[in-house]
Formats: sequence, C-alpha cells, structure tokens
Amino acid sequence: MTQSSLPKPSIAIVGYGSQGRAHALNLRDSGFDVTVGLRPGGPTEAKAKADGFSVKAPAEAVREADLVAVLTPDMVQRQVYAEALAPNMKPGACLLFAHGLNVHFGMIEPRDDLDVILVAPKGPGALVRREYEIGRGVPCIWAVHQDPTGKAKQLALAYADGLGGARANLIETTFKEETETDLFGEQAVLCGGASSLVQAGFEVLVEAGYQPEIAYYEVLHELKLIVDLFYEGGITRMLEFVSETAQYGDYVSGPRVIDAGTKERMREVLRDIQDGTFTKNWVAEHEAGLPNYNRYKQADLDHPIEVVGKQLRAKMVWLDNSPKEQKEAA
Ligand code: NDP
Ligand code: MG
Ligand code: MG
Repeated sequence: MTQSSLPKPSIAIVGYGSQGRAHALNLRDSGFDVTVGLRPGGPTEAKAKADGFSVKAPAEAVREADLVAVLTPDMVQRQVYAEALAPNMKPGACLLFAHGLNVHFGMIEPRDDLDVILVAPKGPGALVRREYEIGRGVPCIWAVHQDPTGKAKQLALAYADGLGGARANLIETTFKEETETDLFGEQAVLCGGASSLVQAGFEVLVEAGYQPEIAYYEVLHELKLIVDLFYEGGITRMLEFVSETAQYGDYVSGPRVIDAGTKERMREVLRDIQDGTFTKNWVAEHEAGLPNYNRYKQADLDHPIEVVGKQLRAKMVWLDNSPKEQKEAA
C-alpha cells in the first residue's frame, strides 16, 4: 500500500510523556494535524507548548479530532476516558492506544460508535523519535478492537506509518496478544528478568570477595556489548564474536542458571498476566498510593551496584546521562 492512499485524520494526543511527545512530533512531521491534550498546569504542558503545539485540556482537545491517542500512564487512562474522552469525542471517531491493558482487561469499555485500535511501538519514546529523525523507524504492532466505521485498519496503518514504524516493520496483532506479551516481556525478560540477573550476578561476585568495580564491569557494563550483538544478528552473532572459552561456558553454565525451574516460574508469571491477577494487583497498588511500588523502587535505587556504578560512570565522559526529560527532549 502506498503512503498516499492512507487516510490523514486530525489527531489529538492526550499525554505528552515518553510516547506522547514522540508520537506528536513524528506525526506532525509526517503531515498530520496534531493537537495535544493535557491537564492544565502539569509538568509537561510547557514542553508541548515549547515544541509549538496547540495545547488544550483533554476534554477540549478531543472534541474536533478524528483520532484520539490515549498516551497517559495506563493507570489513569480509565478516568481520563470516562471524564474527558467518552463525553466529548465526535461520533464515529477513532480511539487509539499504545498498550492494550485497559481495553483488554475491561477497565475501559469504549463507546460502540468509536473505532478502537492499537499501535504499539516496540521501543521507548525517545527511540521512536530518534529513529524517525534519522530516517529509520521502530517496529510497530497494530490491532483493531472494534470497527464500526469500517476504517479502523486504515487508520491504524496510517498512524503507524506516520510514526515511522512502517520503515522498520508493521505486524498485525490483537489487543490480547499485545497486552499479554508486552507485560510478559517487560516482567520476565527486559526489565524484571534482566535487572534481577545483573543484581544477582553482582551480589555473588562481591559476596565471594571480588572487587565491586570489577563485578560491575563484568555483569552490567559488558552486557551492552552482548545485547548490541543480539540486536544486530541474534544469538548467532554473539557466539561469533565471543571467545571459544566464553562459548563453552555459555553452553554448560547458562542452562544451570536459567533452568527448567526458571522456565516454570516464567510460566507462572505468564499465567498471572493472562488471568488478570497481575493487573488486578497493579490497579489495587495504584489505588492504595503505591506503597509497595515505592518500597521496591527504593530497594533498587539503594542496591550496592548503583553506588559503584555511579562512581565508574563518572569516568565515562562520553555517556549521555542527562536527566530523562532532557534526553527525551533532545
Ligand atoms: P508517561 O508516564 O510518560 O506519560 C506522562 C504524560 O501523561 C504526561 O504528559 C502527563 O502530563 C500525562 N498525564 C498523566 N496523568 C494525566 C491525567 N490524569 N490527565 C491527562 N494527562 C495525564 O507515559 P508513557 O509514554 O510511558 O506511556 C503511555 C502509554 O504508552 C501507556 O499506555 C504505555 O503502556 C504505552 N507504552 C509506553 C512505552 C514506553 O516506552 N514508555 C512503550 C510502548 C507503549 P502531566 O505533565 O500533567 O503530568
Ligand atoms: Mg513494551
Ligand atoms: Mg509495557
């Protein structure tokens, strides 16, 4: 399909954080008419204005829009939809999500007249923007939940194309598949699995009497080199580049660390995601004011690997360690 045959809806982006800002900038550069919806006086309002967008309260921003992208944190989307979007969106407009959680688990039951679609970039917002700017894209997965107008698929493809996702790859999915695989990926492998693996490896070395600085380089710093090889050419490419000794160690020791028991516990994590247990607990945690979340986060921030890491990274002058807001704004 050629780009010119795709529709060009007017778009309201609600939320201007990691995804919101990247989507708004990419879509505007792709020729879409973009308005930003934000609660007045919030911290990101000034950023959206500085980037040249017309910024309105969500209820106002969505009134004229053909397509409304819900890019606030997942846990506030239910309220934003109920209070600002459902009463104000045009009949037959399109409601878009970048993660299917609220729709899949029934926390948002969209109006029957609305097309409901998903376009989920497989990467953080800063990368969605950076890749677009250099003429590349982040792969996007897309889905249609409901399609009363018959235009939902075309709208999803137009939006994904405008984000730059079509330059990389677009894959059709369902809200169920995106929600469950996204949660599983971030919990078992990307965020939860990887950080726990690194912390455990660091602890084992330091508790055995090795220097924390050397442990840091071994289990955290060098991980980037390995992940870059995974990204370029899979595990095959990693095996090509590491020594024969490292390969042999990989074959005999990797399965001792990640064994059948680990895999069974990954299945338990997946079951909790699939049957809604994880989401039910997360909603309750959010409603309780994040007591456990804050405690877990503090434990990660206080971990000894963070202390030594901070000292060692101070010597790596080439690192971009600007604050998140600046990095995203770059
Ligand atoms: P952020 O936490 O970065 O979103 C923050 C934005 O939401 C800010 O502009 C904030 O405005 C606004 N906001 C917060 N509360 C409200 C509210 N009550 N009313 C209106 N606006 C509000 O979110 P993400 O970009 O991380 O996530 C957005 C969606 O994208 C989620 O569905 C997420 O799952 C999905 N996603 C995220 C990815 C990521 O890498 N982060 C990757 C792929 C999908 P204010 O300045 O007022 O606080
Ligand atoms: Mg994800
Ligand atoms: Mg996610």
